[in-house]
Amino acid sequence: MSLTQSGWIALAIAIGFWSSFSAVAVLSHASALAGGWIRRGWLCLAALAFGFGVWTTHFVAMVAETSGRDVSYALRPTVLSLVIAVIGVLPAFAMVLSAPRSVRVRIGAGALVAAAVSAMHFTGMSAIWSARVSYRPMNVVGAVALGLMFAVLALWQINKIHRVRGQIKTAVLLMCCIAAIHFVAMAGTTFSQVLTPLGSDQLIGRDVTLASAGACVLAVAIIFTITLMRQRWRRIHLEAERLRQLADCTIEGLLIHRRGRALWGNSALYAVTGIPAGTIAGYDAALIATQETRGVLERHLEAPSDSVDEIVVLRPDGTERIAEILSRSIQYDGLDAGIIAVRDITDSRRAEAQISRLAYYDPLTGLGNRTLFNERIDHAINDAVVSRRPLALLVIDLDRIKSVNELYGHPFGDQLFQYVAARLSRTVRRNDTVVRLGGDEFAIIQPYAEQPGAAAGLAMRIVQAMARPFEINDVKVSIGASIGVALSGENASTPKALLQAADLALGRAKRDGRNTFCFFEAAMDIKFRERRLLEHDLRQALERAQLTVDYQPLVECFSMRVSGFEALVRWQHDSLGSIAPDDFIPIAEETFLIMQLGRFVLQQACETALTWPDDFTLAVNISPIQFSDPNLADDIIEIIDRLAFPAARLELEVTESVLIEDADRALVALGKLKARGVRIVLDDFGTGYSSLSMLGRFPFDKLKIDRSFVQDLSENGDSEAIVRAILALGNSLNMVVAAEGVENLAQLEVLKAAGCHLVQGFLLGCPTARPLDAVAA
Ligand code: C2E
Ligand code: CA
Ligand code: CA
Repeated sequence: MSLTQSGWIALAIAIGFWSSFSAVAVLSHASALAGGWIRRGWLCLAALAFGFGVWTTHFVAMVAETSGRDVSYALRPTVLSLVIAVIGVLPAFAMVLSAPRSVRVRIGAGALVAAAVSAMHFTGMSAIWSARVSYRPMNVVGAVALGLMFAVLALWQINKIHRVRGQIKTAVLLMCCIAAIHFVAMAGTTFSQVLTPLGSDQLIGRDVTLASAGACVLAVAIIFTITLMRQRWRRIHLEAERLRQLADCTIEGLLIHRRGRALWGNSALYAVTGIPAGTIAGYDAALIATQETRGVLERHLEAPSDSVDEIVVLRPDGTERIAEILSRSIQYDGLDAGIIAVRDITDSRRAEAQISRLAYYDPLTGLGNRTLFNERIDHAINDAVVSRRPLALLVIDLDRIKSVNELYGHPFGDQLFQYVAARLSRTVRRNDTVVRLGGDEFAIIQPYAEQPGAAAGLAMRIVQAMARPFEINDVKVSIGASIGVALSGENASTPKALLQAADLALGRAKRDGRNTFCFFEAAMDIKFRERRLLEHDLRQALERAQLTVDYQPLVECFSMRVSGFEALVRWQHDSLGSIAPDDFIPIAEETFLIMQLGRFVLQQACETALTWPDDFTLAVNISPIQFSDPNLADDIIEIIDRLAFPAARLELEVTESVLIEDADRALVALGKLKARGVRIVLDDFGTGYSSLSMLGRFPFDKLKIDRSFVQDLSENGDSEAIVRAILALGNSLNMVVAAEGVENLAQLEVLKAAGCHLVQGFLLGCPTARPLDAVAA
């Protein structure tokens, strides 16, 4: 070796520091472990590193002390000194690790370290064979005392060795302990008298000790490296564990994967995917999604993406969940990995669907509602323009629904609507939209079809389907449907125009006798406009008192004496001439002008009838619409009171529909009038759907058999039977029975024979403004 003396000393000190530092690093690693064999193993490694270091420092320093002379050492004490160094510090290290804060332990452990280092030194010195060694006691005491001081100071730092700064400080102090003991002791050590013989096999030379020292340093280096690796591994492992713990606290499912292979999933992921957290490792992550949405997931697995996408999760039990996913890249177990956050949005999607169902669908029938209709028809019209294929709109109105509700109650009616909806849905194609516009009105949007054939076919199928009776709770009811059809095109290019056209066609279908369908024609539109004009003119006519009243006699069958007159309104239009009530009364009803009209006719008729002999009755028609006014009865009573018209002479003719619209209100009004002495007549008896049930509703004073039965009397035996039945019924209920529309003697004869009380018709007298003239004649 060509090192100088100070070179050897520096090397010795460096080895002392390095091995101390390694031992402290190992101790720091051991301190982070729980007790047990592993920790004890690491403790032994720390003791080995330190012990080897102390021993090596000693023998390298000895090279400097002996000034390069070849010194021989006895083998046994040399080995023993190494064992002492290692075994001596082991309990010291164990003590400080188990109670690093205890003052006593730290001092005790420091003392043990100093003792071990000192023992090693003097045992090592005793191995010198080639010289006699003697010590100055002062130096021995001083060396041990300094060593003790540095050892205690070093171990005082023991709770700071988890940081590198703390490790360096402790290592420096330990090195000081080693150096102090060695060099202070050596300063008082003298060598004398070289002993022989050399070459005994119990002796080792300087080179061997240096080689051993080198081996020790290597061993320390290995221990140090292992410790560093271990520490790094542990840190990564802890980090991953912390990540997992954190991830388990989130509501979102988290899946960590590497190149699409699942590494780990949290417990929330199990809730979404149904794959237990323990079994997910190694799973092909893409398989979580259904075939259709797998591509979306695969994109996230290949490259993390900020975009939030939706997938459908297919669970092992076959059920599906809707989930939102988002991906990121992370470090997992020290390597690049991907993480996918999976949020289950099935419930909120369902709630949204439910809300949109409520907004767009009719809760009773499950069909679309008006909102859906408005949206769909907008689209359909645009599509029709683009595809140049007209779309058909069918508006369907159910017949006799009001009567069914009246007869069987509303819950029954609701059920009927559901049956109707089901039948309607069965008649359409997938592309068609069936909606309930409200009440008993339905509509179908029929796009992309060969028109007008497709619409006609559909309308026909619906008419047939609705004509078949419905059987609900063992009750069979027959309704029927009227359908108006309009095709989009020049005349109807907006939803509003299309709906209006279909409505006009529907009106026509209803007038055509119901249970039928009708296509919109331009002529209807003209009629519609005419109607609006008529409405305007009627309003004016009422204001300018241009309406008049005619009177038609009612004749007693047997005496052929006139018993009274029915007031019938007349309108002489300025340019159109005389307009029939059947044409303008419906307009008056639609526009509520009927209220004003009804008051006018009553007042006018009462005033006129006051000029007649006292025994003539006066019959006035009251429209069902007038009953929507809660003051109707009071208004009528006010008029007759004001004119002092005897209530007993007044008859009010109502049709059965009065008791269908708002039955309760009508019954109150009728009851009030009857109590006042006014007689109530059930007009047009036999034409309605539930005429018979009406008789039980209210104690009518008189029935008027509809003229359709009278018209058929001479030819049709059935009609005669019906008339006889009505008469028998009326008699048994103590009602007067009248027949209207008597036009010939044959009819009169039959009615007479059947025992009819009163007759009315062109045969007996036409409506006229001056009825008394005719009676006199
Ligand atoms: P309604 O109450 O059934 O009146 C009888 C209708 O039959 C009258 O028609 C009358 O002219 C007609 N008529 C009378 N005898 C015969 C006959 O022998 N053969 C035929 N074919 N018809 C006969 P009008 O005056 O055209 O009235 C039609 C309907 O208009 C009335 O039917 C009634 O429902 C309504 N109406 C008429 N005036 C008023 C009114 O002042 N107020 C209300 N609310 N409705 C009225
Ligand atoms: Ca009448
Ligand atoms: Ca009538």
